[in-house]
Amino acid sequence: MSEPIDDCIIIGAGPAGLTAAIYLARYHLDIRLFDCGTSRASWIPTSRNHAGFPDGINGEELLDRMRDQAAKYGAMREPKRVTDLTKPDECFTVTCDDESYRARTVLLATGVVNNRPEGIDEQLHDEALSRGLIRYCPVCDGYEVTDKKVAVIGTGDHGTAEAQFLRTYTSDITLVSPGGDHDLSDTCSKALDEAGIKRVAGPCGDFAVENGAIVFDTAEGRMRFDSMYPALGSVVRSGLAQSCGAKVSDQDCVLVDDHLETSVSGLFAAGDVVLGLDQISHAMGQAGVASTAIRNYLAEIMPLRR
Ligand SMILES: Cc1cc2nc3c(=O)[nH]c(=O)nc-3n(C[C@H](O)[C@H](O)[C@H](O)COP(=O)(O)OP(=O)(O)OC[C@H]3O[C@@H](n4cnc5c(N)ncnc54)[C@H](O)[C@@H]3O)c2cc1C
Repeated sequence: MSEPIDDCIIIGAGPAGLTAAIYLARYHLDIRLFDCGTSRASWIPTSRNHAGFPDGINGEELLDRMRDQAAKYGAMREPKRVTDLTKPDECFTVTCDDESYRARTVLLATGVVNNRPEGIDEQLHDEALSRGLIRYCPVCDGYEVTDKKVAVIGTGDHGTAEAQFLRTYTSDITLVSPGGDHDLSDTCSKALDEAGIKRVAGPCGDFAVENGAIVFDTAEGRMRFDSMYPALGSVVRSGLAQSCGAKVSDQDCVLVDDHLETSVSGLFAAGDVVLGLDQISHAMGQAGVASTAIRNYLAEIMPLRR
């Protein structure tokens, strides 16, 4: 008996992977959906910029709704971590520890992981995040810190850009270096001066939540803020794409064409793992495009008829 081959294996069940699961299942394709349960969307206390939810929606609730919708069409999330991805012949081999699966196409929707301030206690971090005292996404929730006292933990070009972005919302911004002194070019220093953004040297540490604020040590003593944004970069989960031979950018984002296909034929990618705006709407839109491209790719190599 020949080995079973799925039409598509989706790796990752965040907004991108779940949208793809809904589309592909509704195209009557045989798919699998592997996920290790660490979607960035599950961190969202309340998203207020996701269209269609005028009172906002909690990230886990949004994922629940999408999982239910995918399951309705037979696409069940399987809680498995994919450990290897190769393309030894015209099909892919997807490995989850000691099990392996074969698929004609693969959609990588593995997202990114935000770097946290060093030494922060996990429980404190999660509590502060749920209360909006720690935030990671000015595009998502900058509006919520309008006229508040805000710290950006970071330095260099990245820290400067994030502080400047937030300056649209509040005039009270302090850029706090995570380590010792700031590492700022003349251009950055000038831009920060012009915007009235304060600078404080680090190291920052001993984070705590006190009276509805986030407080921590800096080189200038203990400071208190309504919210803080770590601008410390992120780890792009593109390792599987790379091990399969797909090209990535200097920042490790998976490079794709207009149809979200990578440099490896039949390997597609969508969501935060691809270079672009790290937003739910973008992840969903890319997944819709990728799924339809996958359907059309399959239609080229085999008849898709009932
Ligand atoms: C605090 C916070 C607030 C945010 N607020 C908003 C907001 O209000 N509006 C908005 O639009 N965006 C918001 N975002 C951004 C949004 O969460 C992301 O853009 C979105 O989740 C990206 O979807 P994704 O499917 O690409 O990745 P993810 O949601 O991160 O999902 C990736 C999935 O892949 C899985 N995975 C990774 N590697 C493997 C593997 N090897 N094997 C199996 N599974 C794997 C992970 O477990 C995860 O479930 C916020 C992010 C954060 C952190």
